[in-house]
Amino acid sequence: MTDFGGAIQKGPDCDVVIIGIPYDDKSSYLKGPAKGPQAIREASTSKMINAWTELGVDLESEIRMTDLGDLDVSGHFLEVFSRIEEKIGDVLSKDMVPIVLGGDHSVSYPIVKAFRKKYGYLDILHFDAHADLYEELYGDRYSHACPFARILEDGLVQNIVQVGIRTATGEHRKQVNKYNIRMIEMKDFDNSLVFDFPNPLYISFDLDALDPAFAPGVSHHEAGGLSTRQAVNIIHKLNAKIVGLDVVEVNPDRDESGITAAAAVKVVKEVVGKIVFDRRKQYEEET
Ligand code: MN
Ligand code: MN
Repeated sequence: MTDFGGAIQKGPDCDVVIIGIPYDDKSSYLKGPAKGPQAIREASTSKMINAWTELGVDLESEIRMTDLGDLDVSGHFLEVFSRIEEKIGDVLSKDMVPIVLGGDHSVSYPIVKAFRKKYGYLDILHFDAHADLYEELYGDRYSHACPFARILEDGLVQNIVQVGIRTATGEHRKQVNKYNIRMIEMKDFDNSLVFDFPNPLYISFDLDALDPAFAPGVSHHEAGGLSTRQAVNIIHKLNAKIVGLDVVEVNPDRDESGITAAAAVKVVKEVVGKIVFDRRKQYEEET
């Protein structure tokens, strides 16, 4: 089971919950991301890592994390999506921070629906090689290439920033203008970028945002991406109240060395560490 260097505890009172969604029916090219949650859990569970994050947070003593296991993904995709929305809504109603292990990227749409219900106003930071803004792909409006088109069409998000993008099509660029998306393409990426979000922030992290050199275990190899270091730095420098995260598209079939699952673990640790770090800072300022 999940461990994160010993940070995972048992018990009902928790601040952060891990939920696996072993689902890849909406993958357009290769299956495999359904095995992502298990691979990420395995990478998190060993003496390879400790529970401290780079910002000096000890996840073992400073926050209560638990793992709720995997969601049932059997049945028609609409049933699966409503189960996802319901489960995330349930976790959010208890004021806990859900960390979702995917799964292909299609799962982000029902997840974000639940977040929108909880928070009313929501911002999104989307890491990806792809904009995932297709109206439809191969006749499917719910493909893993479409979740952000659905999210924007439903008006679920106030501000959305996309980073890591290096496959934008003409259609995507039209969507960027239509929905006022801030798309930062890799060709324009600058290490000095700092992001401010006024509303509660949901982070959706597709592992193919990283260069295949750092994360080969994804279905779509797209050269010229972010280093793991750059992605972690973006997270550390965020000015935002982070309320949830998904790490999606890990495809263990292509992750022979396990470095992609390890990168996913790193992202989870550093996002949770950032949440604790910011809470601690806020507490210190208030007292
Ligand atoms: Mn994606
Ligand atoms: Mn992608």
